[in-house]
Amino acid sequence: MSTKISIINVNDFDGIPDAVIGAIKLIEKDIHFDFTKSKNILLKPNLLTTKKDACTQLGFVEGVISYLKAIGVSMGNVYLGDSPGQSQKLGSDVAKEIGIYEICETHGVNFVDFESDIPINEKIEGALRLKEIHVAKAVKDCDILINLPRLKSHLEATMTGAIKNYWGIIPGGLKAHYHLFGKTAEQFGEVLADNFSWIVKNKPNRLTVYDLQEIMEGRMGPGGGKMKKWDLVLAGTDELALDIVALEIGKIKSKNVPHIKNGIERNLGVGNLENIEILGLSLEEAKKQTPKFKVPGNTFTSFIAYMSGHIGYKIIKKIPELIKSKCIQCGECAQNCPAEAIEFETNNFPIFLRKKCISCFCCAELCSESAIKARSRGLAGFFD
Ligand code: SF4
Ligand code: SF4
Repeated sequence: MSTKISIINVNDFDGIPDAVIGAIKLIEKDIHFDFTKSKNILLKPNLLTTKKDACTQLGFVEGVISYLKAIGVSMGNVYLGDSPGQSQKLGSDVAKEIGIYEICETHGVNFVDFESDIPINEKIEGALRLKEIHVAKAVKDCDILINLPRLKSHLEATMTGAIKNYWGIIPGGLKAHYHLFGKTAEQFGEVLADNFSWIVKNKPNRLTVYDLQEIMEGRMGPGGGKMKKWDLVLAGTDELALDIVALEIGKIKSKNVPHIKNGIERNLGVGNLENIEILGLSLEEAKKQTPKFKVPGNTFTSFIAYMSGHIGYKIIKKIPELIKSKCIQCGECAQNCPAEAIEFETNNFPIFLRKKCISCFCCAELCSESAIKARSRGLAGFFD
């Protein structure tokens, strides 16, 4: 099995749409399906929260729409949607706030809220943990899926990108509920790979255009980390290969990212660099111009968990800690905690119940004020 990935340099924000078109054109011959014959093309950006930095940039949506228009696709056949992390917000709320909704209106693209239809219950054959999921009807119905992830660090999953972006196919609060199937970083990696395996099996016609123009890194990702310009656009049809290339550019070992490691072990795509042909900018050039990607460290945690049968892991496992000076007492974190591990009363600070906490960091991911940080449980972890 082999695949092709294009890498394009883009030095400014305004150049993104042209770079996106250029990246798609480079791999055009490898796309085995015909966009012009489809009645239902779904664009799936990352619409995590109403913070622009946490979402796919507008230029990526504009670039894909321009490409589709140029090859003769009717915009009546094109849909765009996502399900944000916050259960009480719709994709359209986020899209309106960051400007993607306006782009859809301008071009006649149909915006679809993943929560507006009853989700479809699907079995996942061969799943390790997530044996069945509820998938947004818009995803189930589409015959071409265009994935538009943005590379970001992730407190629990280490990074979010091409594979992790599909977590949004699960509507609303169900996402947080499914976190309960993977209570450690390794287990959650298996859950993410299970979810991706449904995509691989059920959605054969896929294209990914990957936002590496400005990435998010550091310990507060994916909701509010530090932004860094990488000036790159990637395109391809194999998400595992795309994530591996993105990590290689950022000098991060794929085996240190649980869902990527699991995806490689389960052959959910092209899992080694030897079988990936790079078009456009070479991988070496891309690496040379790019600083190291700063992600939260999971390696030591995983190692200790493996070595000590989870005893050491209890001590170093991370739990959320409130930064009171930043907290605006909105209660968003409590509403999205899948383990009901946060007590909240109006006009008070949230209280984290460490014994109930499964360290999923949905709370930190969705806090608009970046008022939640991770810290180790310490020796008290023994008694949790
Ligand atoms: S921690 Fe964040 S989400 Fe929770 S109440 Fe404070 S500001 Fe709101
Ligand atoms: S308190 Fe935060 S990290 Fe703990 S279970 Fe709830 S959402 Fe997850």
